[in-house]
Amino acid sequence: MKKLVKKLILNKEQTNTLLETNTQNNIIVKDENENENENENENENENENLLTTVVKVKQNQTFSNILKKYIQSSDYSFKIINEINKKFNLKKLRANQLIYFYQNKKDNKLEKIIIPIDSDINLIIKLGEIVDVEKNILNRTIEKKSQEYTINDSIYNDGIKNNIPVNILIKLIKLYSFDLDFQRDIRKETKISISYDSIIIDNRDEIFFGDINYALIEIEGNKLEYFKFITNDGYTDYFNRKGENVKKSILKTPLDGAKLSSGFGMRKHPISGYNKMHRGVDFAAPSGTPIYAGGNGVIEFAGNNGGYGKYIRIRHNNEYKTAYAHLSGYKKGLGVGSRVNQGDVIGYVGSTGISTGPHLHYEIIFQNKQINPLKLKLPSGKILKGQELERFVSEMKTIYANHLNLLFE
Ligand SMILES: [Zn+2]
Repeated sequence: MKKLVKKLILNKEQTNTLLETNTQNNIIVKDENENENENENENENENENLLTTVVKVKQNQTFSNILKKYIQSSDYSFKIINEINKKFNLKKLRANQLIYFYQNKKDNKLEKIIIPIDSDINLIIKLGEIVDVEKNILNRTIEKKSQEYTINDSIYNDGIKNNIPVNILIKLIKLYSFDLDFQRDIRKETKISISYDSIIIDNRDEIFFGDINYALIEIEGNKLEYFKFITNDGYTDYFNRKGENVKKSILKTPLDGAKLSSGFGMRKHPISGYNKMHRGVDFAAPSGTPIYAGGNGVIEFAGNNGGYGKYIRIRHNNEYKTAYAHLSGYKKGLGVGSRVNQGDVIGYVGSTGISTGPHLHYEIIFQNKQINPLKLKLPSGKILKGQELERFVSEMKTIYANHLNLLFE
């Protein structure tokens, strides 16, 4: 268990290193091309008749290059690659990714390959007359964790000292960013109490973190508490005991640490030189800075949009939309129709389209007209009512009881 807790704070790269030196699992990770004549780093797998070799993909190394070592026939190699590509684009293999090769002990014949293609998906390739490729979704177990600590230094530093995973601390800080100014409001002796999900995936030497279920920040007797709840319209959100949403409906600043570089209104355009109405606000930030969804909603546009460059527009409800321009790229997996929660990363700051340097051009659109985000009077977040409130109250009680149980068991 201690080992498990220790692993909770490792990032992906560190976990890989851990795996490399982990001989308990009878698996040794090796880098291809390291030394061709070296003893094969093979070990027994649970499958008695097979030898397992784990290969770590190197920068710019192709799958076909790795496969050469196991398959002599180029026709057969081609067949394997062709079959895999029908289910998974091998061009998407990343450096440092692991691939498992299973050879028959008797004749060294390659019988099986496993490629982990996602945190919980393995691609299993069975090699015979026919090459059979299938996706296997790994079993996941969710374990609830509860912890409490007092702040002496900062919410983040004390969290780390108390073994709260970094991802969870980031979520905690985001959750309270509507209520608290962390520089000013947090006093010594502030109490944090938190419950979150840790996700253990079978056959993976890595732990993932899910959502915060409950959080309390208590400052000089004042309690700020939030409970996770999936609303009737399918959004994961946080509410206080009265069923009031933590979130203001739309963020005025959808990124961290940015500087307002140009406001809303008439200005001389930096490129054309003409006086022109600037229908948004510009935030200067380094290229690659993550951009958050300004509110819950559905992406209605994601793509190139003339002078806006790479552009995303989110529809929040019948009246409100937000738009994000000059991005360097979009968050992987997002596209038109994707549902996003406020604070989710949707893309990254860039300088595409007509732009003088990396910045985010942000628009809040009310009834199809851009309005000044900084002057926006925010409609308050959702307040649960009726049957939805009843469901929330019942789930809230369960979350709270579980949290106390875990803390004091
Ligand atoms: Zn702008």
